[in-house]
Amino acid sequence: MIIANWKANGGSKSNKDWSTIFLNSLSKEVTSSIGIAPSHIHFMQLLDIFKNSSLKIGLQDVDFENGARTGSISASMASEMNCSFSILGHSERRTLFNEDNKLIKKKIEACLLNNIEPILCIGESDEENTQGQTRDVLKRQITESIAGTELNQDFTIAYEPIWAIGTGNTPIPKDINAIHEFIKDVVQSASANNKIPKVLYGGSVNDINANDFLVESNIDGALVGGASLDASVFANIVNIYEGLNKK
Ligand code: PEP
Repeated sequence: MIIANWKANGGSKSNKDWSTIFLNSLSKEVTSSIGIAPSHIHFMQLLDIFKNSSLKIGLQDVDFENGARTGSISASMASEMNCSFSILGHSERRTLFNEDNKLIKKKIEACLLNNIEPILCIGESDEENTQGQTRDVLKRQITESIAGTELNQDFTIAYEPIWAIGTGNTPIPKDINAIHEFIKDVVQSASANNKIPKVLYGGSVNDINANDFLVESNIDGALVGGASLDASVFANIVNIYEGLNKK
């Protein structure tokens, strides 16, 4: 899967223009799994624009329950509006909004209950990376978020080293591939039903480096932030992915 994470960007006019350029820049009809995560208030606009295509429209976060939770949108509300997937535990939510693995676990379970594909983001900081703690950090994030949970076939991890997000510093594709293999093993052991997840890579992916990442056997797709705001660049990434026949 390739996902565009628009973060707090976009507007009704620019979203329309983005969609026109994106569709015109695709080299063929999309057959793989491609998703767009606009802001919550633009979700319905994007759903309407892409209603006749196979593109999935999702959210960047959902809350785990309804009720007295001012400012929140719950998984069941999102599901009712045909939300396909939700990014969960993005490092910006962990650092700016103090989300921890315990809360993220509740959100994953709420998504699974409401037929929303959970895209769980995990990743180590620069300091953890230089201290050789990457695998320990990832293992803790995974086990605390999914231990004992029955995962469905859509459960997906996005490995996003924090130091690679928006910086242009990317790990070597072969190293990411090895980390993804590790992530698949950890999820398989930690989940109640021994599920092997799809693992996306995220962190400064663009249309110049995408092929180097996506050719690796354990890199099942990409979560794209900054580069997804440019419709033709995002379409180029989708074209590369489609050319590799990955799903
Ligand atoms: C992200 O924030 O999920 C992300 C991958 O951002 P960028 O592509 O800009 O590094």
